[in-house]
Amino acid sequence: MRNRNKPWADDFLKENNHILAEEPFSNKGNWQQSFSKNQPLHLEIGAGKGQFIAGMAEKFPEVNFLGIERVKTVMVGAVKKVKTAEVENAVLINEDAKDLRDMFGTDEIDHIYLNFSDPWPKKKHHKRRLTHETFLEQYRDVLKSDGRITLKTDNRSLFEYSLSSFSKFGMTLEDVTLDLHELEDGSNVMTEYEQKFSAKGQPIYRCEVINRI
Ligand code: SAM
Repeated sequence: MRNRNKPWADDFLKENNHILAEEPFSNKGNWQQSFSKNQPLHLEIGAGKGQFIAGMAEKFPEVNFLGIERVKTVMVGAVKKVKTAEVENAVLINEDAKDLRDMFGTDEIDHIYLNFSDPWPKKKHHKRRLTHETFLEQYRDVLKSDGRITLKTDNRSLFEYSLSSFSKFGMTLEDVTLDLHELEDGSNVMTEYEQKFSAKGQPIYRCEVINRI
């Protein structure tokens, strides 16, 4: 997304173009070339200020991470986090995720993360939810057949909608938890929104689904 009245954001992103993909649509099918090692490719949609992707890249150096965030001024925060983490396995994309099939080849992605996606509570806006079937159609194509989607949210209504949407679409629900932080097994990397909501005592819902089984 272009935001012409924030030239400081443009300048900052230009200075850090080793972290930000400059022409993401021309990388379709060839994303491994953006990384120093050829290894599984995980994609976060709506990466926000980047705490999750930076933390995951540090924790899992054997995975290449891509993060899409459409708001340029928010993306600046994500670039800062990845830069501070000094990781080589995270690349960011400043675009809207509505055109995933123009950005990724068939079966190119191993795992998609949807973290605290905008809930769009009004029924007339449900088609904007990142788990609406129009998005699932795209995920199905860009994900490998045994690829996975992990969704985390504090929003019960979005969670229930998403479980139903995944199931109706024929994706296999593998793991569903209604209180992620109760598990306390050390595997979870928190996002900014997750920290904020869990500090207020709200339970965090998570599910993991498999593309085609
Ligand atoms: N994932 C972060 C977290 O958990 O802290 C941010 C959550 S915030 C509620 C949702 C983010 O997704 C926003 O930064 C928004 O700009 C981004 N977003 C929503 N729809 C998007 C889309 N279609 N393409 C790219 N980014 C999107």
